[in-house]
Amino acid sequence: MILPAIAMVITALIMLIMIRILSRQAIEYDIKQELKKSLYENMQYLSVSEDGLEISDDFRYEMDKVVFVVVNRSGRVVAGEYPEAASIPLMELPVANQNAVAIVCEDEKYYVRDIRIKKSKGMYLRAVIGDSDADSPYETMEIVSYISIVSVFCAVLVCELFLAKKISKGLKYMCQTAEQIGSNLDMSQRMKCDNQFREVAVLAQANNRMLDRMENTFQMQEQFTSDVAHELRTPVTVVLAQCQYAREKVETRDEFHEVLDVVYRQSKKINTIITQLLNFSRLDQDRVQLENETLDLVEIVESVCEEQQDKAGDEVSIQLNLKEAVTRGDISLIAIAIQNLVGNAVKFSRRDGKIEVKTGEEDGKVYVMVSDHGIGIEQDKLECIFRRFYKCDQSRNEGGFGLGLPLSEKIAEKHGGNITVSSKVGMGSIFTLYLPKK
Ligand code: ADP
Repeated sequence: MILPAIAMVITALIMLIMIRILSRQAIEYDIKQELKKSLYENMQYLSVSEDGLEISDDFRYEMDKVVFVVVNRSGRVVAGEYPEAASIPLMELPVANQNAVAIVCEDEKYYVRDIRIKKSKGMYLRAVIGDSDADSPYETMEIVSYISIVSVFCAVLVCELFLAKKISKGLKYMCQTAEQIGSNLDMSQRMKCDNQFREVAVLAQANNRMLDRMENTFQMQEQFTSDVAHELRTPVTVVLAQCQYAREKVETRDEFHEVLDVVYRQSKKINTIITQLLNFSRLDQDRVQLENETLDLVEIVESVCEEQQDKAGDEVSIQLNLKEAVTRGDISLIAIAIQNLVGNAVKFSRRDGKIEVKTGEEDGKVYVMVSDHGIGIEQDKLECIFRRFYKCDQSRNEGGFGLGLPLSEKIAEKHGGNITVSSKVGMGSIFTLYLPKK
């Protein structure tokens, strides 16, 4: 605010100085031209005869404040009188034919011009005018320019001060809101967007959008912390209860083994949650150095499905329909993503259900499609299943933590791919993992 004002004042001063210099030059030029003109005008009343210099009655010793004097070569007056204030220096001023000269006497500047009187023996007509007597139109222009510049700059300065005050009021309010949010972490506050200056309003809108996102992230963070605590609480409670029971009640070796089995299973659950959370954290913070090797999805799918079929036994049958699909990426992560999709298909299939796993190429991408004929997912829940810790039906999902799909989606994103889903309740679901073709 102060800097632009100073810059404006300096600019105004520079302009005033330039006007002064230019107008002085113009005024001087004008005065010299005026002197020359009046000299030639008056010269016609001077003539030289055998008797010497003859001065006609029409000759004027003063014309429009210009004083005329007839002088000899050394500058001595032959006829006429110098202006009294400058008579001494003018008397000593030798003639300078053709060129006008300026002398300063008692703070007043005098312009002098000489012209030789024709046929005379070394006589000159000298015209003298004082600076203050000269009447140049450029003087008026100079004054008008000064007044215009000063008034324009004053007007701009006042407008700038006025506008700056208005803008700073809006910004001050935004600062206050930001300070308040910072001090009490109340993310529900928003900045006023009704400032009459568009730029300030746009800034407030951008800040509000940022606050929306921050509030959303805070809420997700809070939800996430509460979900983690919730998921860990059950197995930890069971482990503690079993330890207590072992210390107080267990007597036989068999009972002790039973307790150990429970503790082992619950610890495995805790370990699974922690491993998946660590995977998320590494992927979120780009801490995992992704391998970028050529991957044959057919091979990975075969290995994952073999493992899942062994685990499921006769309960489901996994059928493979595999066509060439080669991509690049990290084999361990891609295997986790495929494992999650096939694992879910097995988990949510009915007894004797069929699962089909396909691979192939489509529109420059490769895909792994897992179709099941299981319980399916309600339409309104489809967009929630990729949220961390989201489970459609708690009772039918024992051993699941709602982390498999979001982790698979994250892995797909990290490889430049994505996961799509379509499902019908009671009919089954189709999950497709798309990845860039090598
Ligand atoms: P979880 O480890 O609990 O299975 P996921 O993130 O893999 O977690 O899945 C989230 C939820 O999506 C599951 O709890 C389940 O309700 C639903 N879901 C995922 N895959 C299927 C599927 N093939 N059929 C039906 N529901 C599914």
